[in-house]
Amino acid sequence: MIENLVREEIKGFKNYEVHSIPYRYKMDANETPFELPEGVIKNIQEIVKYSQVNVYPDPTAEKLKEELARYCKVVPTNIFVGNGSDEIIHLIMLAFINKGDVVAYPHPSFAMYSVYSKIAGAVEIPVKLEEDYTYDVGSFTEVIEKYRPKLVFLCNPNNPTGSVIEREDIIKIIRKSNGIVVVDEAYFEFYGNTIVDAINEFENLIVLRTLSKAFGLAGLRVGYAVSNEKILEYLNLVKSPYNINSFTQRIALEVLRSGVLRERVNYILNERKRLINELSKIKGIKVYPSKANFILVKFKDAEYAHKKLLERGILVRDFSKVEGLEGALRITVSTKEANDYLINVLKELLI
Ligand SMILES: *Cc1c(COP(=O)(O)O)cnc(C)c1O
Repeated sequence: MIENLVREEIKGFKNYEVHSIPYRYKMDANETPFELPEGVIKNIQEIVKYSQVNVYPDPTAEKLKEELARYCKVVPTNIFVGNGSDEIIHLIMLAFINKGDVVAYPHPSFAMYSVYSKIAGAVEIPVKLEEDYTYDVGSFTEVIEKYRPKLVFLCNPNNPTGSVIEREDIIKIIRKSNGIVVVDEAYFEFYGNTIVDAINEFENLIVLRTLSKAFGLAGLRVGYAVSNEKILEYLNLVKSPYNINSFTQRIALEVLRSGVLRERVNYILNERKRLINELSKIKGIKVYPSKANFILVKFKDAEYAHKKLLERGILVRDFSKVEGLEGALRITVSTKEANDYLINVLKELLI
């Protein structure tokens, strides 16, 4: 009986797969390999001790918005905080997408654009990246002219390819579009370039950011949108009243103020360079350039490589069964120790 009650769009949906394999190094989800510094942990313990969980959290996370605004060099009314940027993608659909509206996004890219499009009943137009995974801006403008998408997603740097789209090209796409353009900057800190400064220049631009990657707070669930007040007003209308819990608000604030970011990002950038260098030396691996904290690599037999890495306790993400990513694994840049271990396993594997 229940099958007959479920919405058309949800039928045939599969669960987001979660692995629970024992591992030595986790290099599959683009997380930060570092734990929080001692001092920050101490402060968090105090926060927990004096928190009043009997009262509801601040529904609009004002303090956190102020700190994020400072970080982005905008004003707090240009910030919207979500339970991960995943939630914000969902809320954007909820606010703007009617069944049958067109959503365009790069392919291959972050899977959630498609998942939430399907849930919303949107018509999806995946826009193929070039052979080398650089953005094909011509294809995007053609798709915009032809299908007039209500929503266009750009992922910059793109997950899982690590490729980027230049500012002039983003602006070209925003200008061409009658709908909203969402620029997902989840990996901004590893790239350094942003379009956040243009949010008041264009009425149809939303920039997405997250504390899950460079800030190392994936478990806390904090994402944010930077946009103009009009767009954010609509997101506020569709969100659940208390989407960010009290602990998350306080701890995110603490970590933002702690100054852990710069050192961590520098470390990862150094390791990224080293890892790309070392992997490029290994015969049988094709390494793609990356502006994020992960590297896309291709093998003749990715399934075998993936299996061997797992046997040695290294989790990486297998994309080899995704159309357009045949032979590809995505490796998250980790600690020096983890990266060295991975390099050695791959060297052994491919002699
Ligand atoms: C990880 C990731 C996100 C999701 O971030 P959360 O804030 O943890 O939901 C969004 N977009 C891209 C491209 C990502 O890789």
